[in-house]
Amino acid sequence: MKIFAPKETDPIETRASLDPAAVKKLVGLGAEVHVEAGIGGRCDHPDAAYTAAGATLTTDRDAALASADLVTRVRKPAAGDVAKLKAGAIHISFLDPFQEKDLLAAFAGQKVSAISLEMVPRTTLAQKMDAISSQANLAGYVSVIVAANRMNTIFPMMMTPAGTISPAKVFVLGIGVAGLQAIATAKRLGARVTAFDVRAEALEQAESLGAKALRIDLGETGGTDQGYARELTPEQLEKQIQAQAKVCAQSDVVITTAKVFGRKPPLLIKKDVVAGMAHGSVIVDLAAETGGNVEGIVPGEETVTDNGVTLIGLANFEGRVSKHATQVLAANFANMIEHFWDAEAKTVRIDPNNEIQKGCLLTHDGAIVHERFQS
Ligand code: NAD
Repeated sequence: MKIFAPKETDPIETRASLDPAAVKKLVGLGAEVHVEAGIGGRCDHPDAAYTAAGATLTTDRDAALASADLVTRVRKPAAGDVAKLKAGAIHISFLDPFQEKDLLAAFAGQKVSAISLEMVPRTTLAQKMDAISSQANLAGYVSVIVAANRMNTIFPMMMTPAGTISPAKVFVLGIGVAGLQAIATAKRLGARVTAFDVRAEALEQAESLGAKALRIDLGETGGTDQGYARELTPEQLEKQIQAQAKVCAQSDVVITTAKVFGRKPPLLIKKDVVAGMAHGSVIVDLAAETGGNVEGIVPGEETVTDNGVTLIGLANFEGRVSKHATQVLAANFANMIEHFWDAEAKTVRIDPNNEIQKGCLLTHDGAIVHERFQS
């Protein structure tokens, strides 16, 4: 099987889908691995490291796309790139499938088997290929580092002969994978952390990391069988917004990570709450790229409100630690390929009835095979 990893084309993307360690593993399986020259240029992996690991470098991207049996990439491809793939090829990447109906149709039309990293099931078996988690974990870490960098104050308490400096107060909203890492990172830096999530078990996890859990009685909130939160009713949402306003007003840093799978993120912090925060405080919205939890946030940008609150809506937080993000993402790719590897045929087996593939294989054999995306 010929695997090809092209260089990312989106200027915001610093990660690569494969690193030299992943190449070595795939070559060890018996795959022929080709990478586009310069693929690791923004995550500290020179071309020579890829060739040393057993990859073939190519500068002819189009020819490589046309001849590959399997393509790995980080971001969804442009429609033009899909048209270059050969029938029967496998394509694995983030796909943003809920927003990308045309792209799915293009994959089906090209007879490509498209696997969406977003749709990998949250099961124990699939954990090693769960790129949403491996990346969200790093995004959570980076969100705190970015906030600390923008503040004119410090995180830890310091008792000095010149007086005592109080610890920073951090509020983490949404305690999934990113939120938990944000809590852990803020605690390590010495902040006092409060956290809220609609899932009761997430509040307990926050407490085990030393955060104070904000408890709001919202009645039945429920969850999916994958452990995801459900969308709140407008009444529940309003109650939450009111109940957390005081915590926001007292916080130096607010980090929002709240998402509802397959839907727009809930708007949890309104303009009046931002207006009530102190001059110099910082809000980092990890959901900004998909719509945001904070009113007034500008996706991809950093702005300052009239009352001096910095709103950070930057995208690709994990890409700010691109070497580590690539390390774990490439491991997710290699683990997935290894998991479905047929050692005799030296190829990846596509089996729409396999439990993991049932979750994340969206197109196959000329059709959209995932029922969630068929209509
Ligand atoms: P996510 O990115 O979809 O959402 C982030 C968080 O936002 C979630 O904790 C969610 O409950 C929360 N949220 C939603 N609406 C909210 C609101 N109105 N207010 C506050 N918070 C709100 O979630 P995620 O980080 O991908 O993780 C989701 C779940 O999946 C978690 O239970 C996690 O433990 C679980 N998980 C399981 C596995 C596995 O079993 N292999 C792997 C990763 C994650």
